[in-house]
Amino acid sequence: MADNRTFTMIKPDAVENGHIGGILDQITASGFRIVALKLTQMTQRDAETFYAVHNERPFFGELVEFMTRGPIVAAILEKDNAVEDFRTLIGATNPEDAAEGTIRKKYAKSIGENAVHGSDSDENAQIEGAFHFAGREMF
Ligand code: UDP
Repeated sequence: MADNRTFTMIKPDAVENGHIGGILDQITASGFRIVALKLTQMTQRDAETFYAVHNERPFFGELVEFMTRGPIVAAILEKDNAVEDFRTLIGATNPEDAAEGTIRKKYAKSIGENAVHGSDSDENAQIEGAFHFAGREMF
């Protein structure tokens, strides 16, 4: 994937609470173009693989349970400086620390159930996008 792309998920908490539209609106209003988009649900194996980097962390089991409990929206987004600008748009992992106006400040309830994912590097954006989408689903 090009360096001007990032990968995001609207997590089960935000989907359950009816925030898909509000979050996608904020994303596109902030200048990101949607390259790929779908409603899907991660299996336990998907979540364990996607978050493998955290598998030694105390919250890993809870994270896998949370991320598999209902549908998510997966998307690939395009913009100059996409990874960094999207991390700024979503705010800190813990919504208590997130800046005003960020997606996590508005929609997240806790450090675990924090509404959205955003890739943390160009390399991970590529890996995560390819994890969820086939080439024919990217536009
Ligand atoms: N997480 C958690 N407890 C923590 C830290 C993280 O449940 O103490 C969850 C949270 O959903 C977070 C995800 O694990 O978004 C990945 O953590 P990371 O540190 O990579 O944060 P992010 O890059 O998502 O801000």
